[in-house]
Amino acid sequence: MTHWGGPPVLTEVTRPIPRADEVLIRVEAAGVCRSDLHVLDARPGVLPYRTPFTLGHEVAGRVAERGPGATGPAVDERVVVYGPWGCGRCLRCAAGAENYCDRRAELDAVRTGTGVGLGRDGGMADFLLVPSGRLLVPVGDLPAAQAAPLSDAGLTAYHAVAGIRPTLSLDGGANVAVIGVGGLGHLAVQILRATTSAQVLAVDVREEALALADACGAHFGTLLRPDTAEVLRRRAGRVGVDAVLDFVGSHSSLELAVGALRAGGELAVVGSGGGELTVRKPGALPPGVRISLPFWGTRPELEEVVALARKGAVRVETEEFALSSAPEAIGRLRSGHTRGRAVLVPD
Ligand SMILES: [Zn+2]
Ligand SMILES: [Zn+2]
Repeated sequence: MTHWGGPPVLTEVTRPIPRADEVLIRVEAAGVCRSDLHVLDARPGVLPYRTPFTLGHEVAGRVAERGPGATGPAVDERVVVYGPWGCGRCLRCAAGAENYCDRRAELDAVRTGTGVGLGRDGGMADFLLVPSGRLLVPVGDLPAAQAAPLSDAGLTAYHAVAGIRPTLSLDGGANVAVIGVGGLGHLAVQILRATTSAQVLAVDVREEALALADACGAHFGTLLRPDTAEVLRRRAGRVGVDAVLDFVGSHSSLELAVGALRAGGELAVVGSGGGELTVRKPGALPPGVRISLPFWGTRPELEEVVALARKGAVRVETEEFALSSAPEAIGRLRSGHTRGRAVLVPD
């Protein structure tokens, strides 16, 4: 990422040397995320990052070298990188929730970046420097292309599901709608099946995404049409669905969510599609509805989603590309053709 507005450039940079607590990772795989497109397309001044930096915030690899004060995994251990890098010292960070670091505004003010590959050098490279061993989670023999997407697509989906789990366990026959079955949505379907007893209803604008939802264990899938809210309500016994995970976050997906939700239901807006909701009482939102804006996830949750993947309960649908073909992988994602997650593997 050399300048705002892209395109991304493949170039040589110096191999970093780990000092103090730092750990150097030899990258085995790095996922491509829709957030990378938002970063590439951002106008100067919109994001609090300095250019140039290396993209890639879903990274798996092997510990290559440790600084003299480094803690955590040993050299040669295979790991996935916990991506949201907070201050490491506030109460939230101490609890492993660096995604909600209390000092984020301070870090942004000095343009430190949100995390790996987001203002800080990321994993679309042969090597990645990680500030501390606390940001590494061992993955054992999980293939790298499976492990890398767990650190954002998997973790973000897991964190969103964790937020609505109490609502889904209120009664036996809970229903949850998943809007958008892409990189995150197809993992959310599997995580819901593995960790709840809810009926999973999938919605997408693409037939092939519904086929993927079906393969991931969704109980029902439907294309987005003008009557989809009514279709979902009928599937959920006419009262409406207990929860909606919106992985799109556009005007039309939020409108669908509001139309399908049951009173006292739960809406988690995960996607950054630019849609807006009006909160007014009384208004269009059903009474008792709770809305959350989950962002990424916690370190303990990353350990939990890695454990689910290692026992085979979660499998990432991937398209693999050589690192040198990153522009092609990014182009496919932009045109909406990626099935599941695109993953770059160093040549
Ligand atoms: Zn991402
Ligand atoms: Zn913090």
